[in-house]
Amino acid sequence: MTTLATLLDTGLGWLFDTVQPGDCHQHHLGIVLHLPEANRWYGFIPEGTRALPVVSVAVTKVDWIDDGPLQVPANPLRPDELPALAGELRDRGFESFGTWNGHPGATGSVGLIRPAHPTLVGAVDRYRRGCITHPKQSVFCDCEDWRAEAARANDPTRSTA
Ligand SMILES: [Zn+2]
Repeated sequence: MTTLATLLDTGLGWLFDTVQPGDCHQHHLGIVLHLPEANRWYGFIPEGTRALPVVSVAVTKVDWIDDGPLQVPANPLRPDELPALAGELRDRGFESFGTWNGHPGATGSVGLIRPAHPTLVGAVDRYRRGCITHPKQSVFCDCEDWRAEAARANDPTRSTA
């Protein structure tokens, strides 16, 4: 069973300690790890706000309530949930420069000060560059070369398959 602790270790290990091959690319939104028991997913984004890593948390299955013109989540993040996540990250040596969203919303983010592993930043740069075989297709290419370049990235969400 996945716990938040093992999930954070996996995601942070990927962001900061995993060497990416020089011939791969990585989507700029990074990876998502799921914690079904808690109805949460966590995103690990190599370059988010300020081009620094962002760890996000979101309710997986949101129960929406109609509140006049707005829909509000009946099961939002807990009031202490985003500060607690920032605390978990700090306990692992990753200071944040801020958090945003969170309760009463269904998503929240923590911005981290330490840059992602340089080879991961390089892989994201190659994603943004787009397909070099079909420059007009840019990042939306679906050719074998572009997909193979993506498949060469070290990604913990695929390694267990
Ligand atoms: Zn292509």
